Amino acid sequence: MATSEKAAYDALPYPRVVVVGGGFAGLAVVNGLAGKPYKVLLIDKQNHHCFQPLLYQVATASLGADSIAHPFRRTVGPMSNVAFRMAAVKKVDPANKQVITDRGTYDYDILVLATGTVTNFFGMEDCERTAMQLKTIGQALDIRSDFLQEFETAVALDDVEEQRRYLSFVIVGAGPTGVELAGALAEIKRSVVKHEYREMDNETMQIVLIDSNDKVLKNFNEASSDRALTYLQELGVNVRLNTRVVGLEDDELMLNDGSSIRTNTVIWAAGVRGASVPGMEAAMDPRSGRYRVDPQNAVEGMPDVYAIGDIAAMRNEEWGDGHPQVAQVALQQGDHLVKNLVRKAEGKEALPFTYKHQGSMAVIGRYRAVVDLGQRSFGGFFAWLVWMFVHVVQLVDFRNRFMVLFNWGWKYLSWRNTIRLIIRPYVRRTNIRLR
Ligand SMILES: Cc1cc2nc3c(=O)[nH]c(=O)nc-3n(C[C@H](O)[C@H](O)[C@H](O)COP(=O)(O)OP(=O)(O)OC[C@H]3O[C@@H](n4cnc5c(N)ncnc54)[C@H](O)[C@@H]3O)c2cc1C
Repeated sequence: MATSEKAAYDALPYPRVVVVGGGFAGLAVVNGLAGKPYKVLLIDKQNHHCFQPLLYQVATASLGADSIAHPFRRTVGPMSNVAFRMAAVKKVDPANKQVITDRGTYDYDILVLATGTVTNFFGMEDCERTAMQLKTIGQALDIRSDFLQEFETAVALDDVEEQRRYLSFVIVGAGPTGVELAGALAEIKRSVVKHEYREMDNETMQIVLIDSNDKVLKNFNEASSDRALTYLQELGVNVRLNTRVVGLEDDELMLNDGSSIRTNTVIWAAGVRGASVPGMEAAMDPRSGRYRVDPQNAVEGMPDVYAIGDIAAMRNEEWGDGHPQVAQVALQQGDHLVKNLVRKAEGKEALPFTYKHQGSMAVIGRYRAVVDLGQRSFGGFFAWLVWMFVHVVQLVDFRNRFMVLFNWGWKYLSWRNTIRLIIRPYVRRTNIRLR
């Protein structure tokens, strides 16, 4: 913002809306309020929006990080009533209507919390210390570096048992993230490892997918869960259902059936909890870490504070304690809040939110996916085409869409994904307690 533009922004005679979090929900609010009679400040600890559903593709070197990320300043640059601060929110002070960050304190008239989720380790501290996560671009790049480093170490070893430790990748949690990641790693084993690491037997590599439930994709229709399991097994993924992780010590992952797996790489995709911020405890559901909201997304007992997307728990008959934590809910709640804020500016009453569920989908390896549309489900190649189309359309801008399509086209036609670069080596976290 030039000095004159900053002065013009500061002088806007509108209510101040502070939006914390520029994920699907927060960005929908920012886009919707552009040009409306509000003075908007977007705060995010990252400088970019991240399209999380494709993070696993960055982690498995199918897409570059910049294909699925978009800088906030590029988005808000043309919006004269919107500003951006890269800052981590440390506390909210609802009594004084202030947001306290590591870069300063900001006053608000209306606060929109859209902070999403963090990985939930369910109190397993040893896993929290060393297991890898997949929530941010940085973590996706860590996974990418890690598996490439493991390959390079394994190929230099003569002892097959030692090699197996480096080539055992364990994913905990068979929801969409775990399933998609397992499928992509299995494809890497069949193509990249087989053809480019010829000095070792690619069968030494194993991908293990663990879940305490009795099926994969537990929130999908039965037919899709069964289909996904078949696809994974056909790809050679070792799926271990009804199995719980009970501990992780150095390179040994212990399971509830008394067995253990020697592995350097455990990726935790078993659950999330709300990315809550201090100061809002009174409205937080302690089990999920989400904020209880009314049908207009207003946070219980906190005037002028709204929560939307993954962080919000709106109880209703259809969805119980809260809507599913998926992109569609976040987008629709963001859009709905914009409508209500515009109505507020016009002196009209706020309307309740109704979620329109548009289906669920997950991709498994190359050319196969499962899709649920209501009670109907289908899989295979057509489902994969639908999955591709939906994900490309949802990307933030034309450049992202073009880059994703180009990369996928190149990869699927030539099978040469050339993003397998170790640029920022991953340094493994140790499991030694810090005193
Ligand atoms: C690997 C993965 C795969 C997924 N796949 C799918 C899928 O296929 N389909 C689907 O529908 N959904 C999927 N999801 C879920 C979907 O991404 C989320 O439901 C969606 O991102 C929620 O949007 P949100 O705006 O609520 O939060 P987010 O998109 O998580 O955005 C939260 C934002 O808040 C910021 N933030 C958090 N805390 C602070 C703080 N204290 N200070 C400042 N900024 C903060 C973060 O940096 C982030 O930008 C996936 C999620 C992951 C992690």
